[in-house]
This record gives sequence, structure tokens and C-alpha cells, in this order.
Amino acid sequence: MIGQKRSLEDTVGPAIAPMLEKSFEKIALSIARDNGGTFWCRLCDRGPFTKRGFYLHLIRVHYRDLEYLVEEELKRALEVVRR
Ligand SMILES: [Zn+2]
Repeated sequence: MIGQKRSLEDTVGPAIAPMLEKSFEKIALSIARDNGGTFWCRLCDRGPFTKRGFYLHLIRVHYRDLEYLVEEELKRALEVVRR
């Protein structure tokens, strides 16, 4: 949300942040179709993107989808921590 941007670490704590970043990367890669250094979006079939361009595309176009996926991933990650 605009004006409420906090760093990942502030939001989830330093213990979780690296894990969440890994989750984000995993999700991003599962959405991307890697085509020899260029990335195509599986969600809307657009491309090619550079890796950085693809992240920006995800954040701009698929923010809601991503939010949901990261939330699910984070829940799973937290379950592992609690064990
Ligand atoms: Zn897309």
C-alpha cells in the first residue's frame, strides 16, 4: 500500500525475511518460463523480459496473484519454523 511500504524485514522479522525472499524467488521462477536468459510470464504469456524486468512485471501486473501466492508460501514456511 502506498505510504505504508515497509521493508520485508520490518514486516516479518529478520528470522523470516530471508526465507520469504527465497519463497518469492521460488514463486517467481515457477511463474516464469526461462528461455535461455530471457523470461516469459506464464500467467499472461507476455515476454520476453530480463530477470529484473520480469520481477517488475510481476509486481505491476500480478501483484494480487503474487500476494496470494507469497501468503500461502509464507504460511507453509511458518509451519516449518513452528515444528
Ligand atoms: Zn504476466
